[in-house]
Amino acid sequence: MPRPPASESDPGPIGQRVAVGLSRVGVALKAQAWTQAGPEGVTPTQAQALVVIKAAREGLRLDRLARQLGVTAPTASDAVAALVAKGFVRRERDARDGRAVALRVTPSGDDLARRVAVWPDFLARAVDALDESEAVVFLRGLVKIVRTLQEQGAIAPQRICVACTHFRPHVHVDPARPHHCAFVDAAFGDAALRLDCVDQAPATVAAAATIWARWSGAEAPARAEGGTS
Ligand code: SF4
Repeated sequence: MPRPPASESDPGPIGQRVAVGLSRVGVALKAQAWTQAGPEGVTPTQAQALVVIKAAREGLRLDRLARQLGVTAPTASDAVAALVAKGFVRRERDARDGRAVALRVTPSGDDLARRVAVWPDFLARAVDALDESEAVVFLRGLVKIVRTLQEQGAIAPQRICVACTHFRPHVHVDPARPHHCAFVDAAFGDAALRLDCVDQAPATVAAAATIWARWSGAEAPARAEGGTS
């Protein structure tokens, strides 16, 4: 019996096809990282390490860097050794624990981190193909995927709104800006959700679970008294 045309056969679970799409994006990111990293004289891992070290305002320990990058401690150590040798990173005594070492970027490392941080711009331009409502839905989906990966221990805790002690989901009646950031004391909507906010303060496990349930709709929203913003 002849096989039906591919267009008529079962395409399989949508989750699997989304995962395939995300893996294609991952391939594009990796290819772009190598293209961009070479001329700068660093590897993609070294470039990522530099961006993560720069983002840590208090300095960063090696074990935390490894977790943030999702690599082993020896791999992170090799990347740091190379960055130190190239003059992009320096090791200092950790102000919070005199026996520990904190990593910081040097001025030239700071310049390079700024340049490499914009590499994902090619991806942002591709995302521009989405209209605004599609982009918001996509962002919500990404937030859920990132948070789930975090819960599974597949990635280190990320600086996301939905795990932030300052995040108050669905406390305003304005459907465009129903959430509140207590850090800046301002209302905002899903379109402004952050995936890497420098002001994020991790919520406790219990508080994060409550925040998640309210934001994702599993729990009735807690409207602020007279909240209208
Ligand atoms: S501090 Fe940052 S991560 Fe936290 S709620 Fe405000 S914008 Fe979101």
